[in-house]
Amino acid sequence: MRYLVISDMHGNVDALQAVLSRVRRKRFDAVLMLGDVVGYGAAPNQVVDALRGLRTKMIRIRGNHDKVVAGIDDGSSFNHVALAAALWTTEKLTPAHLQWVRSLPKGPREVAPELAICHGSPLDEDVYVFTDFDAFQIFAEHRVPVTFFGHTHIPSVFVQTSERLYAAPLRDEGKLEIDPGSRYLINPGSIGQPRDRDPRAAFMTYDSERRVVRWYRVEYPIREAQQRILDAGLPAVLAERLAVGA
Ligand code: ZN
Repeated sequence: MRYLVISDMHGNVDALQAVLSRVRRKRFDAVLMLGDVVGYGAAPNQVVDALRGLRTKMIRIRGNHDKVVAGIDDGSSFNHVALAAALWTTEKLTPAHLQWVRSLPKGPREVAPELAICHGSPLDEDVYVFTDFDAFQIFAEHRVPVTFFGHTHIPSVFVQTSERLYAAPLRDEGKLEIDPGSRYLINPGSIGQPRDRDPRAAFMTYDSERRVVRWYRVEYPIREAQQRILDAGLPAVLAERLAVGA
């Protein structure tokens, strides 16, 4: 099976369209969508439209921002900028799109016997996986060989071999061969709000027969996404951070 792996679109349609146009000639059996469709960015309806319009089957889960926007979580753990953007998004979404966001399933989800997806951690959808110790705790309980996760917005991989655990940030573009004897936690990074000091949109592909993960970065018209945020009256910091990828 060939998968397109996308995460953390965050209402940024300019970035999402750049990613979709980069992969438009490739064929996938399914899209794995790791959550946070909305929140922060000023084009939530356009992002939901684009995702709902995909002709490829999408296996999807919700993110923490999707939950707050949908009213499933009250957002009490959010800072005021994130909460303001979530409340704005709830008001702007069409009723049908809001219902679609509300219906996103809770992670983790098993995609195949050897493949799972989650937003934060496979043990808790809202927990951040940043360090090798975070990964160590997950590998002790979660046996699925390959798990894609989002939430941190940092393209990265954690690998548990038979002998050791190691972590690596994934810069620029590249590929990783999956060793059948190891287990992997893999983050494709964020499409709509990268935070690894590279402002380009990030995504991955995974070929489960060839056992190859590839990661990509795509330039997109950041100025347009910024202008939408300013025009919407959302906090200016949400526009500024897009230019630095932080
Ligand atoms: Zn996010």
